[in-house]
Amino acid sequence: METRRRKAIETTKELADIILQATPHIKSNIHPATRVFQAVRIEVNNELKNVKQVLSDILTLIDVNGIISVISFHSLEDRIVKQFFKRESQKCRCNNIICTCEPPKIELVNKKPIQAGEIELKENPPSRSAKLRIARCIRG
Ligand SMILES: [Zn+2]
Repeated sequence: METRRRKAIETTKELADIILQATPHIKSNIHPATRVFQAVRIEVNNELKNVKQVLSDILTLIDVNGIISVISFHSLEDRIVKQFFKRESQKCRCNNIICTCEPPKIELVNKKPIQAGEIELKENPPSRSAKLRIARCIRG
């Protein structure tokens, strides 16, 4: 049986070209390798784990009336921030008949995330994926 030996990928350009060849051609201004590189970066930097850690650390560090502002740059990060803000601002998190929850630690400043407007999108295209969520600490 013949074994295939592939040459190791040595540059990001080589990898981008391989991804481009393996991806169906779709009209888009975004290179198909963008998402793959993003996924590699997220994994290598442990980004999602770090977002969760920072959010849980914030609750131990912030003072009453302190503001938590988080800008996320992709949907996986935003989902973590959204769920964290939702959970920590809920009056009840136990769903027992007799609630045993402590009162919430934060309240949401904006219900929906703030996103770049038309003018900013034209001047700064990478802002297209940014979402700003804000909460205020209401209990020490
Ligand atoms: Zn409860």
